[in-house]
Amino acid sequence: MENNLLLHTCCAICLLNFLNSLKDNFKIILFYYNPNIHPFQEYEKRLKAIEKISRLKNLDLIIPLYTPIEFLNKTKEYRKEKEGGKRCEICFQIRIEKTAQFAKENNFLYFSTTLITSPQKDKNLIDLLANKIAKEKNINYFTLKEISFIKKEEIKKLDIYSQKYCGCIYSIY
Ligand code: SF4
Repeated sequence: MENNLLLHTCCAICLLNFLNSLKDNFKIILFYYNPNIHPFQEYEKRLKAIEKISRLKNLDLIIPLYTPIEFLNKTKEYRKEKEGGKRCEICFQIRIEKTAQFAKENNFLYFSTTLITSPQKDKNLIDLLANKIAKEKNINYFTLKEISFIKKEEIKKLDIYSQKYCGCIYSIY
């Protein structure tokens, strides 16, 4: 069976960090599922940047339906939490769960997420959530041992959009 990996992709910079850190050999397919991103124009800007990397690196990209209501319904109780709190945990969970489910239904051997490469996010928590989901769904979660960040000059050279806030409406303010 092919060593295929469905990679939840949150933004272009995290994707570049992931690819830069990867030492294993996978057939990667990108999965842009981010219902947390607000507003829609921002969702599109990030998607365009990912499309550019997918073309450059010759990686297929799957774009499921944008479902912001799902995110808002599940997190509204925690809207006043600081970044890194319970709201973010649910935000990770929503995106990882959908990725794992899609991977399972479409015969991927592995799934992973570029969220683990963001210096602003708790990699241990994301790994913990993803491993739990992997066990429940009986699929393999792949994580990186070390993150090798892409150089600023390289990002500049690629001329890709780099966001100024995490993503949700709460993080804008
Ligand atoms: S701050 Fe970022 S991780 Fe936390 S809920 Fe908002 S978009 Fe998700």
